[in-house]
Amino acid sequence: MKLNSPIMYLPGVGPKRAALLEKELEVTTLSDLIHCFPYRYIDRSKFYKIRDIESATAYVQIKGVILGFRPVGEGRAKRLVATFSDGERTIELVFFKGLNYILDAYSINTEYIIFGKPSSFNGTYNFVHPEIEKPSADRMTGFMPLYHTTEKMKNHFLNSKALQKLILVALKSIDRSAIKETLPQHIIDKYHFPSASDALVQAHFPKDMSTLDRALARLRFEELFYIQLAILKQANQFKSKAMGHPFPLIGHYFNTFYKECLPFDLTEAQKRVLREIRDDVRGPGQMNRLLQGDVGSGKTIVALLSMLMAIDNDYQACIVAPTEILATQHYESMSKMLEPLGLEVRLLTGSTKRKEREIISEGLTSGSLKILVGTHAVFEENVKFDRLGMVIIDEQHRFGVAQRAKLWSKNIRPPHVLVMTATPIPRTLAMTLYGDLDVSVIDQLPPGRKAIRTEHIFDEKRPALNNFLRRQMAQGRQVYVVYPLIKESEKSDMKDLENGFVAMKNVFSEFNVCMVHGKMKPAEKEVQMQEFISGRANMLVATTVIEVGVNVPNATVMVIENAERFGLSQLHQLRGRVGRGGDQSYCLLVTKYELSSETRKRLDIMTQTTDGFEIAEADLRLRGPGDLEGTLQSGLPFNLKVADLSRDSQALTLAREEATEILKADPMLSSPSNALLLEQLKEKTHNVVNWSFIS
Ligand code: ADP
Ligand code: MG
Repeated sequence: MKLNSPIMYLPGVGPKRAALLEKELEVTTLSDLIHCFPYRYIDRSKFYKIRDIESATAYVQIKGVILGFRPVGEGRAKRLVATFSDGERTIELVFFKGLNYILDAYSINTEYIIFGKPSSFNGTYNFVHPEIEKPSADRMTGFMPLYHTTEKMKNHFLNSKALQKLILVALKSIDRSAIKETLPQHIIDKYHFPSASDALVQAHFPKDMSTLDRALARLRFEELFYIQLAILKQANQFKSKAMGHPFPLIGHYFNTFYKECLPFDLTEAQKRVLREIRDDVRGPGQMNRLLQGDVGSGKTIVALLSMLMAIDNDYQACIVAPTEILATQHYESMSKMLEPLGLEVRLLTGSTKRKEREIISEGLTSGSLKILVGTHAVFEENVKFDRLGMVIIDEQHRFGVAQRAKLWSKNIRPPHVLVMTATPIPRTLAMTLYGDLDVSVIDQLPPGRKAIRTEHIFDEKRPALNNFLRRQMAQGRQVYVVYPLIKESEKSDMKDLENGFVAMKNVFSEFNVCMVHGKMKPAEKEVQMQEFISGRANMLVATTVIEVGVNVPNATVMVIENAERFGLSQLHQLRGRVGRGGDQSYCLLVTKYELSSETRKRLDIMTQTTDGFEIAEADLRLRGPGDLEGTLQSGLPFNLKVADLSRDSQALTLAREEATEILKADPMLSSPSNALLLEQLKEKTHNVVNWSFIS
């Protein structure tokens, strides 16, 4: 059979399974099938004892005998329970299906090896439908691969083992020489990688640990290498077109603002970043820069000054924020700061009235309106600029790639783009997701900031907490109290929030407490936010709508209710709402008493460090790559199957170096010697939409 033969014709598949494979795994050809890699391997040469089973144990195998069978329950709950002994202790094996078969196939007091994942039930462990084998010589003893399967597949007997069998049949029925080499020879030689075909076979049927390691090393490297090649080649393409809008001038607006209106001295880090931006925009190329800076490091002022560079050169500029609250805040602070310069600023959000929209539209197309602040609404088709030269995207992590891309259609020549994020991205991720962007870092907080004190508090300590909040408010400080609001549990979350609000109003009747949440009408949100920003309200009870960007320097306490329900990066963002002025600030994480060990780890990290990068690394480690798939992988030119960004940073660095080297000599991979690379790139990225537009 050929590599591209339809999967249906593989012995053991047929139309039904073929349809299932296509629907569940997007497998349509033999080639697709043999490229379904295991997600992990289990060492089947190692035996466990029953006493070693604990909650963290994944798959185990145990040698022992069945002492007896007993049927339990009636009707649908009917099941068969076998007592299994390893000579030391016993554990129950539970079967819900095929009861007669089991009774038939296995006998009492015969040695078996059971294999499965223990589940805990009523405080004890058992095995539900474990695999049972006789300890024969041809039993699998090496590394057993585990494949991703779905519930639907399992219902049709297409479990991990069945999939492996199909892959074996597929590998046997194709001509192995048809599996072409996909990496350049010099790279294979340099790293002593196995060939593409050997790596493939070893990944499915590992001979031993070291061969498996080498096969996986190659496969991971290959994925990361092509990701880097795709990203860097794209960057070259932009650069080669050299179609930026040169801003040769530093003129009236920038200089006047810098000399007369700057409310504080810039930090050295802010100055350095401004120089980097300046160097990008003065020449013929287009700027594509990522500005990383921890919460409170002062990115907004850098954005403002960058926008003034555009204005000085007779271009327009806009800044886009992910929430209406943040956009409004930018609008207000920028209008105020730019007033002395006589520069008009307008705000465009989803709730901007038609009349105002018309004024904005007229101003943008005629060029009289120089600065626009907005939300996603700015990306809409009908928003047209006359000479858009600079786009700033605040809190970039909240935007999808597609939205970034939309901005290109606003101009024939793309504007300079500065994306800002406070979510510190671990280096490995930055290199991958934003590999095409130049990176600037503000690694310094404005002077006079005191480190925020973070504490984990149990619910029972609420009276002490309330006393503390009362003292802070009596001293004129302001307090945030944040509740989780998650779609799946929206109704009960709303209740928690509202109950919390009422409770706070009662406890702190002498103070002014206001509330804001995402379900409010924008106008109402605005009123409530203004209460807090102006200092009239002492306490703001809120959901995570205030998570990003909100800046009220007089607020010194952040109380996070049900803190166990927030992820690390969210907790860090929320904490960043305080500690913005000169006063000592506090972040108080309130939880119930019983917590999972993972949650404890998260909260411990929060109390131990305020370093955003450290938190981001820990987050990636704790959450693993699984969570990355949806949110972050959407930014990749193709999905990763074997590489794991939280683990393979070394391979990624090497892959990037190799890709850079190759592109340095041949920026567009047009030389015949690089034909293989170009072809592989096309093949791997062929079903990815819009990639060429990523900014
Ligand atoms: P972020 O990087 O989180 O967006 P902001 O730009 O909102 O931070 O700045 C946080 C606070 O620090 C604001 O109140 C801002 O006015 C202030 N700030 C920024 N830069 C400086 C500086 N160089 N010196 C003093 N205060 C500063
Ligand atoms: Mg900000």
